[in-house]
Amino acid sequence: MIPDDPFRRRRAIEMQTLRESRVSPHVPMGEGAEFNTIRQMIERWGPHARGIGDDAAIITSPGDRTVLVSTDTSVENVHFRRAWLNPEEIGYRAAAAALSDLAAMGATPLGILVAITVPESWRADLDRITDGIGEAAAIAEAIILGGDTTSGTELVLTLTVIGTTRQVLHRKNACTGDRLYVTGRLGGPLAALRELQAGRHPNPVHRNRFARPVARIKEAMWLSEHGASAAIDISDCLAAELGHLAAASRRQLNVRLEDIPAMAGISATDALTSGEEYELLVASPVDIDTNEFRNAFGLELTRIGAVTEGEGVVLTDSAQPVALPAGYLHFAE
Ligand code: ADP
Ligand code: MG
Repeated sequence: MIPDDPFRRRRAIEMQTLRESRVSPHVPMGEGAEFNTIRQMIERWGPHARGIGDDAAIITSPGDRTVLVSTDTSVENVHFRRAWLNPEEIGYRAAAAALSDLAAMGATPLGILVAITVPESWRADLDRITDGIGEAAAIAEAIILGGDTTSGTELVLTLTVIGTTRQVLHRKNACTGDRLYVTGRLGGPLAALRELQAGRHPNPVHRNRFARPVARIKEAMWLSEHGASAAIDISDCLAAELGHLAAASRRQLNVRLEDIPAMAGISATDALTSGEEYELLVASPVDIDTNEFRNAFGLELTRIGAVTEGEGVVLTDSAQPVALPAGYLHFAE
């Protein structure tokens, strides 16, 4: 069914075209333990995997669109701990984090490649990890196109994502006079991590933001269509990403502490230093209607400042400059 709303309508038609461009079935694979494992993963993914089994995945580039590729690795005890997340969450989160990089470029996902290193001690959890990856793929309407499976000493997930867009949201595009916006409310992942590191149970709302982040793909496309010209996803933390955006654009980003959107009970400083949010920081030369955004996605969009000539990030509290807090190091002991 083609929806009435022009944005959703355009996206529905686009998704239909993309789906039609990648209808190839799987290629039958031979015998062996490794192939049995791969077959089992493909079976669990059902319609979310396609065209797997040859030496390389084939992508048909749709017409006038730019193709984007990004890869992300999650390593046990570096990016996640077994005690903190269940296997579905580990798979889901690795895929959502990779997909978030496509969102940050304003791209629609086409496909995902899943490279996985599975130690013996994780073998029994592979189905659940597979399900988590499949769920993230389904939510993002991305198709799993292939991957690689090996044994090893630690669980490692390397997710490569492929997307397309007509309009790239470059990091370097923030210009003097642009407005700065942030999606969602920040701080949940940091609050959850603090509790987990202290051996306590985090608030479920905070834990959910940590364990089940959402790649803001549709939101990024909407923002791009409504004037945004630069974007970055918040993987390190907002304070750090502001620095990256300022450096890439060679501009000064001016942000008001009182405007930082924090979750209930979270300080603005914690919201600025919380990582792995996967919300978006965008710059736009025109005003974006934050109410319209909220109505479209059930998610906040907050104006946090503006871009001027200069360099770096200037944070103010009641118009007085204050130091930008340093990022929070997850595994610093
Ligand atoms: P090759 O020997 O050509 O590297 P593999 O034996 O590694 O191929 O994999 C066989 C097929 O299964 C390929 O199409 C590959 O993309 C797919 N594959 C392997 N591991 C995975 C995985 N973890 N997820 C999805 N597809 C996979
Ligand atoms: Mg291989």
